[in-house]
Amino acid sequence: MSGYTRPALYRCHVCGETGGSTILATGAHILVRCPSCHIVGLWPRPSEAELTAAYAEGYWDAPAKIGRPGLAYRLRMSGVARRLASLAKGGARLLDMGSGDGAFLRLAESFGLDAWGIDRYAPAGAGSRQHEGDFTATGFESGYFQLVTMFHVLEHLPDPRAALAEAHRLLAVDGVLMIEVPNADSLVLALAGRRWQPLEIPTHLSFFSTDSLNRLVESVGTWELLSTSHFSWRASPAALVLTVLPGLQPKAVRRRNGGRYPVALAAMYLVLQILAIPAVAGTALLGRGCIIRMIFRKKQ
Ligand SMILES: [Zn+2]
Repeated sequence: MSGYTRPALYRCHVCGETGGSTILATGAHILVRCPSCHIVGLWPRPSEAELTAAYAEGYWDAPAKIGRPGLAYRLRMSGVARRLASLAKGGARLLDMGSGDGAFLRLAESFGLDAWGIDRYAPAGAGSRQHEGDFTATGFESGYFQLVTMFHVLEHLPDPRAALAEAHRLLAVDGVLMIEVPNADSLVLALAGRRWQPLEIPTHLSFFSTDSLNRLVESVGTWELLSTSHFSWRASPAALVLTVLPGLQPKAVRRRNGGRYPVALAAMYLVLQILAIPAVAGTALLGRGCIIRMIFRKKQ
C-alpha cells in the first residue's frame, strides 16, 4: 500500500469530518469510513483530469445502442418502470438524474411516463429530452416532477447531498424518489475486497450503507421511506459474475474484439448470471446484496 494509510489526512467530502477508519486499500487509493456520517469515501480524491479520462471514450457501452434499450435491458428494468408508474400520484412526469445513454427514458416512456433526463456526461445521440448539465442546477422549476430516479449516480458525485437537495426541490409534495447505489455492506465486498466489481475506482467516490444513505436523504427534507431492497435484476447477478471473472465485462470484451461481443462469450455471461441468482438473492435477503435500492415519498 502507498503512503495514504493515515486516515487523519482524510476529510469527509459529505459532512467535512476528519479522521475515520480505512476499510479497504485498493493500490493507489484507500476507502475510509467517516466517523460522523459513516459514508465511505475514496482517498485520495481523483483529480478532474483523472475523472475526465475515466469518463472519456469507452465509458458508454455500445455506441450503436445509445438511447435504444435492448431486450435484456427491458426484461431486467421493466419491473422498476412499472413500479414507478404505479407510485406516481396525480401525474407522471419523471426526471432520471444521471440518465446516461437514455435507455431508461425510452423504457419509462413505454410505461406511459413523461420522461426527462439530465447527465453531465451524456453521450451524443441520447435524445432531445435529455439535458447535458449539472445536477445542482437543472433549470427545471420547483415541484415540476412526480418521480425522480437516480440509478448508480450518487456514488459518482463530489457532492451527493447537493444532488439530493435538487431532487427534493424538483419533486412535488407526494412525489417519489428512487435511488440505487452499490452497497458498502455487501457480503461480496467483504469477501472479495478490491476485486469487487462495483468499486469502479476512480469514478466511484462514495459508498453508502442503508443507514448512511437514509440519513443523507433525510438531511435534505422530510420523506416517508417506502421500501428498501438489495437486489437489482440488472446490476446484482452481473456484479457477482464480474467480481469472479472481470474479463467478461462487456466493455473489456468489446475492446479486445474490435467493438464486437462474440456470441459464445455473451451466452456464457448470461448463463453465469442466471446461475448466480440464488447466491445473489441470498445476500440480498440478508441486507448484504451488492446494491441498495431505496424509495422515498416527499412529505414536504
Ligand atoms: Zn462524513
